[in-house]
Amino acid sequence: MDRASQTRAAQLLHHRSAGLKKGDPISLPIVPAATFHLPEVAGASHFYGRNGMTTWEAVEDQLALLEDAPCISFPSGMAAISAALMATLKVGAKLIIPADGYYVTRVLSEGFLAPFGVEVVEIATAAYAAHDFTGASVVYLETPSNPGLDVIDIAAVSARARAAGAVVIVDNTTMTPLLQRPLDLGADLVVAADTKAPAGHSDVLFGHVAGRDAALMARVKDWRRLSGAVPGPFEAWQVHRGIETLELRLERMCASAHVIAERLQAHGAVRNLRYPGLEGDASYQISKAQMQGFGFLIGFELADEARAERFLADCRYIVQSTSFGGTHTSGERRARWGDKVDPGFIRLSVGIEPLEPLWSAMEAALNA
Ligand SMILES: *Cc1c(COP(=O)(O)O)cnc(C)c1O
Repeated sequence: MDRASQTRAAQLLHHRSAGLKKGDPISLPIVPAATFHLPEVAGASHFYGRNGMTTWEAVEDQLALLEDAPCISFPSGMAAISAALMATLKVGAKLIIPADGYYVTRVLSEGFLAPFGVEVVEIATAAYAAHDFTGASVVYLETPSNPGLDVIDIAAVSARARAAGAVVIVDNTTMTPLLQRPLDLGADLVVAADTKAPAGHSDVLFGHVAGRDAALMARVKDWRRLSGAVPGPFEAWQVHRGIETLELRLERMCASAHVIAERLQAHGAVRNLRYPGLEGDASYQISKAQMQGFGFLIGFELADEARAERFLADCRYIVQSTSFGGTHTSGERRARWGDKVDPGFIRLSVGIEPLEPLWSAMEAALNA
């Protein structure tokens, strides 16, 4: 993480400090309010809970420091993605999405946007580099892709997509703004599931949209207010607390993931391992250039479905769950969701366990 990102993490921790009055709590108060004192509308800071609530505004302040851009929060990553797409698409528009990205985005696009007259075009993450974006309204990318861990050169693809007149949306969930900064690389909007590493404790769903184009962001905000996809104050408070340790957790998770990727790759039972931080990996060069860390996700194959399931069940420090970015190391066989991967393919999300006990448990399960 470079100095600027470290500074952002420090600012995040102190974002409330300047506004504190004597005797105020240091921690963020939860304010469960649907209505506000409103003797007259003019000059009121808050009107009604669907328009704005202080507890989620505090999380948006934290996220805005990380993104260096205004942020609008949502009750889940998918609510944020839906908002960004609804704010930028209309009938007849052409939407380009990854064929190998987060599958719910594809299901949403095919099942709900296409019937409203959006032309949905799916291309492989690896094909973005050479794709002709002529006629596209929205070019949506996810890098590294989930779960394949292919990467896209965000600056190069954004420049070509914008030159073709498209709006560029980047799903930055796997990296977070501390490790990858799509807005600085030319994207118009960032969408992210803060459910993952930012909240970090596998106990809350949350998401956000970030962007520096005021008109686009106003539309995203209108979508939230009109669709009613608003976060709850308690959930916002959980994210506010979790994200305070994001930088610290990422440091451990990325460092451990790097060592574990090297050791797994050297193990005879492991095939086709992907980790963007390994010099031989197809994603290494671009990752090194545009990311400030190689992340905490590793993909690899064991011999077959049975071997992979046994590894996951036997390893005492891997929780078997979907999702990633939590404090606990987690893993799952992605083929169980229909991802087009080998039946023995495992996506591993490295958590914050101390490295050596974690590796010993994995090694024991691999050798069992
Ligand atoms: C989890 C995830 C989402 C969706 O987030 P939810 O909070 O589960 O709605 C979107 N994109 C990516 C890459 C994800 O991993």
